[in-house]
Amino acid sequence: MVERGALLGPFYQKILRELGESFMPGAGAFERGAKDVDLENLFERFGKGFDKITLLGFKLMLIAVNYLPILLLGKARTFGKLSPEDQNRYLEKLEQSKIYTLRGIFTVVKALLAMLIFSDSGMEKSIGYELLCHPAPGIKVKSELVKQSRDIHSDINEHAQVCVIGSGAGGAVVAKELAEAGIDVIVLEQGGYYAQEDFNQRPIDVIPVLYCNNSSIFTFGVPMVALSAGRGIGGTTVINSCTCFRVPEDVLADWEENYHLKGLTMKELSPYFQRVEDTINVHPGEMEIIGKNALMTRKGAEAMGLSHGPISRNTRNCKGCGMCNYGCPEGAKQSMEKSYIPLALKAGARIFADCRAEKIIVEDGKAVGVEGSVLERESQKPRYKIKIKAKVIILAGGAIPSPVLLLKNKLANKNGQVGKHLRIHPAARVAGLFDEEIEQWKGIMQSYYVDTYRKEGIMFEATGLAPCVGAMSMPFFGHRFKELMARFKNMVNIGLLISDSSEGSVRVGLGGTPLITYQINQKDFLKTLKGIRIGAEILFSAGAKMVFTGTRPFPVIESREEIEKINERLIKKTDLEYMAFHPMGTCRMGDEPAKAVVNRNLESHEIKNLFISDASIFPTSLSVNPQLTIMAFATRLADFLSKERSRYL
Ligand SMILES: Cc1cc2nc3c(=O)[nH]c(=O)nc-3n(C[C@H](O)[C@H](O)[C@H](O)COP(=O)(O)OP(=O)(O)OC[C@H]3O[C@@H](n4cnc5c(N)ncnc54)[C@H](O)[C@@H]3O)c2cc1C
Ligand code: SF4
Repeated sequence: MVERGALLGPFYQKILRELGESFMPGAGAFERGAKDVDLENLFERFGKGFDKITLLGFKLMLIAVNYLPILLLGKARTFGKLSPEDQNRYLEKLEQSKIYTLRGIFTVVKALLAMLIFSDSGMEKSIGYELLCHPAPGIKVKSELVKQSRDIHSDINEHAQVCVIGSGAGGAVVAKELAEAGIDVIVLEQGGYYAQEDFNQRPIDVIPVLYCNNSSIFTFGVPMVALSAGRGIGGTTVINSCTCFRVPEDVLADWEENYHLKGLTMKELSPYFQRVEDTINVHPGEMEIIGKNALMTRKGAEAMGLSHGPISRNTRNCKGCGMCNYGCPEGAKQSMEKSYIPLALKAGARIFADCRAEKIIVEDGKAVGVEGSVLERESQKPRYKIKIKAKVIILAGGAIPSPVLLLKNKLANKNGQVGKHLRIHPAARVAGLFDEEIEQWKGIMQSYYVDTYRKEGIMFEATGLAPCVGAMSMPFFGHRFKELMARFKNMVNIGLLISDSSEGSVRVGLGGTPLITYQINQKDFLKTLKGIRIGAEILFSAGAKMVFTGTRPFPVIESREEIEKINERLIKKTDLEYMAFHPMGTCRMGDEPAKAVVNRNLESHEIKNLFISDASIFPTSLSVNPQLTIMAFATRLADFLSKERSRYL
């Protein structure tokens, strides 16, 4: 039971409510409004996923919105004391402000309100949304063999041949392969252990436990980008969209040519890909359950003569319930907690959840162990100490945590490369409004690709969203917003993945948290605009009556003729809303020690017996979703260590 008002006191709750009722008034397109929604309770459910700094930041934004009428309207009144007309005028000024920070505050507050309001089941009903999964009750798939915080009652002191830090795409795969080769493996995972029985189809409940900081990791730069990553047994694979692509050969050719990786070809990698694909059952999405979001994308691509197809996915008996980003309630998704982790346990790997690695112990230039803490699940406070002595340490924390751990430990960074070269695949989206009902949430979530422009760095992936997530980036507020949401069921959503040449960096910030800087360069910005134009064309070709472009000056266009407005003369970088789901490249691989953190065998150039197995190793963007390639490299690393065991173990 959630304690009311534990996170927001009455002062902030009042502001939240006043804003909510203005964002989503009663009557109009449908009767229900924010006044009928228990916003305070919904905030308590969702807000527990924010870290203290983000929660404080959000409160400051509420204060800003409450008092800014003085600045923007010249009226010395708080938001709640304005007349309804003035409230609308004020919110419009905020939404359209020339000052990026003010617009940013509006966007964040609105996104949060949209998530809360459309998590209300009455509101969902009002727009025709229903939950689709019906798993058999009483399912229990979690293994007792995974040790969690609640099972641990004293300090841990263990020995193993290999200690893996992190249990996501890179960590779980290398652990399973090594364990099956008869090697004694321990895995430490800082997040909790959640599986099918915990996934209730409610993003508002699942995001706080499965996503890092409620999916609110922001990059510093212009524009700011909201980065998402998972935590827990299975890492980000638990919340990903099941899309599986091999790294394209032209990307490998670039690595051979420009990143000191001669001979690293698909011929060498193919058996590792095949092994992963067999283990997690990668196959093209089934057309019977693919859903109208995909079919409309196909129709548009077909009409334009573009190359397209159903996305290959790692599932078994997928029901097409569109919930992949919130943990699969049907147990169909072959994410790590469902596939590689049980296999690793079966082969004898010892796996600890709620255990954070904090120090990599190095003696005579060689990694020999890991120290860390057992965390109390709710508070994240350390309860006990952990010490693992091992012959080989494999860091698989993901492209943001891995460099942070190395930087905190002042390890493997004599050449200054740790944390550099961050790529993120910046993502934008276009949505189209159709006459017919689409129900984008019905069917495979990320379902259909259009890859004609992939080599240029623009990839399209049709992705159906639940209303509480889709609402976060719909334009407008008040009755206009409400009218759009009333027609949400008639919308098709297409995501754009940009293969970036922009590079950011990860450093150690306040309180040891990651400080991420990232600036979109002109080339990637132009690619994004081109992607939005083509996305709009696909939607109009499929019969859309209007297209939501995700750009500030032209949030809605109503004809093909208007597509040309989406250009760099009329739109600035700060007019776009970017998200990102694929951080990569911060401990990059390459055979030249001065320019890379690990060599082609993924061993540190500097610290012997320290390996890295996660998204941080890629020298550039992949131009396609990365999980399969991370897993293939993890399989290759296990193969290398297994063959070289007399040298390392
Ligand atoms: C919403 C979303 C959808 C996505 N969809 C797709 C998709 O459809 N297809 C695709 O290819 N990719 C997708 N991705 C990306 C993909 O899932 C990730 O690139 C991939 O999982 C990264 O693997 P990894 O091993 O680098 O890190 P992760 O999978 O993130 O695993 C790292 C793990 O290490 C743990 N860890 C970190 N530091 C420590 C520490 N100090 N001690 C102990 N544990 C630690 C973390 O808690 C985490 O569980 C998606 C990502 C998101 C956010
Ligand atoms: S669509 Fe996603 S969440 Fe639904 S059953 Fe298939 S894999 Fe699971």
